[in-house]
Amino acid sequence: MTPSPGTGQPGQGQPGQGQPGQGQPGQGQPGQGAARAWHAELAWLPGVGVRPDVLIEASGDRFTVISPRTATADLPPGTIRLPGLTIPALANAHSHAFHRALRGITQAGRGTFWTWRERMYQVAERLDPDSYQALARAVYAEMTLAGIGCVGEFHYLHHGPDGVGYADPNAMGRAMIEAAAQAGLRITLLDTCYLSGGLDPASGPVPLAGPQLRFGDGTAQAWVNRVSSLGADSRGMLGPTARAGAAIHSVRAVPPGQMPAVAAWTHSRGAPLHVHLSEQVAENDTCLAAYGGTPTAVLYEAGVLGPRTSVVHATHLTSADIELLGASEVFACLCPTTEADLADGIGPFGALAAAGCRLTVGSDSQAVIDLFEEARRIEMYERLASQERGHFTADALGTAVTWDGHASLGWPDAGEIALGSLADLVTVALDSPRLAGAAAAADLTPAEGGSADLAVLEAVIFAASPADVRNVVIGGRDVVVDGRHVLVDDVPAALSAAVRAVLA
Ligand SMILES: [Zn+2]
Repeated sequence: MTPSPGTGQPGQGQPGQGQPGQGQPGQGQPGQGAARAWHAELAWLPGVGVRPDVLIEASGDRFTVISPRTATADLPPGTIRLPGLTIPALANAHSHAFHRALRGITQAGRGTFWTWRERMYQVAERLDPDSYQALARAVYAEMTLAGIGCVGEFHYLHHGPDGVGYADPNAMGRAMIEAAAQAGLRITLLDTCYLSGGLDPASGPVPLAGPQLRFGDGTAQAWVNRVSSLGADSRGMLGPTARAGAAIHSVRAVPPGQMPAVAAWTHSRGAPLHVHLSEQVAENDTCLAAYGGTPTAVLYEAGVLGPRTSVVHATHLTSADIELLGASEVFACLCPTTEADLADGIGPFGALAAAGCRLTVGSDSQAVIDLFEEARRIEMYERLASQERGHFTADALGTAVTWDGHASLGWPDAGEIALGSLADLVTVALDSPRLAGAAAAADLTPAEGGSADLAVLEAVIFAASPADVRNVVIGGRDVVVDGRHVLVDDVPAALSAAVRAVLA
């Protein structure tokens, strides 16, 4: 049940192989061409484990030197000391940035996913490109403070009120790209095809209505035309740190006959393809009634499932579904805090991994933005469901939240501290109230069933919070220093102002 750790070279065996951008140096960020050096007290290295005193150097946005057990006397001038455990930046594989405005106003009262969705639609109705960008900038800044270096934005709020297009039909998507640039993290814009407002068991797809009109392009071909005008280059890049990807919202929102056009667009570009899958029992029931198959079967028949595909949630599956997903080598993107918040259910995390799916995580509805929490809940939910412990190691969960997450977003050359990889680092302080003692314990007592050096990683995965993130480097550039965001002055104030503007 334990996925193998990412021990390969950057890009090796990754689903993005053959993708135009792979293996080529990324475009450096302005002013970031200089060599940089860090000395990590402890660093988690792929296939090796946690090692002390690691000299890490980068030129531009790539790692050029990884050298464990380097004495202080041997460090290049200007080397920055990183006390704590340094790991690759985290990948948030599933985000709807604007849902962050709902935090704190959806927890009272009863209801279901469907009643929560009504509240979410009320926020969606109010956004325009400016307010959307301001909100996303603040949310992405919160993400970087939490150690996230890359976000997959599952973006479906495309058009103006009543579905009337903006002068630039991609104004809302470009707002997300600009927001990510301002917050200093990498983005894969998962531009989402959303054509119908639901599925009627008897009559099939229901037309979009009300706030949903803003999501729709009419047909998959119209979606292709709009997304193609985003202006991605031959490597799928939309900017120095932005990549184009696609999403099919769900079987509820895209009729099966429309799906192949979206899949074909991703095939021709080697782009990631994401889709919400079986988050709710009701989705399965209507899909079975309308199409005679489970959502997984419908996606498979439409040619949507493959090694560049991420199925998001994958909560209510049959054993045949799980077999099909594993055989298709998809990523399963789990969002445990959202799935709990929305009363979705507990997904078959262990069975999906055992079937061959690579697991990733997402903050999804932004109920919280804490990928350590998402990662450890994979193991915890499996324990609750099975009444047994020990399904996923810290190493496996760490791999899900870094290497596999980046690969699922089309960045197979990010997510590990390895030569040639994108120079992304997150340093977690080990002297916080939550983690103090972890390093000492690692010295004295090897983790159960593991090695001493992985005990520190175990402490971080199972006990760290975003408050413990001290430094974040993305593409060789400092984004968080000593717990402070260097690009967004006051992140709480930015969040407060942006949420107020949307809800006022
Ligand atoms: Zn979602």
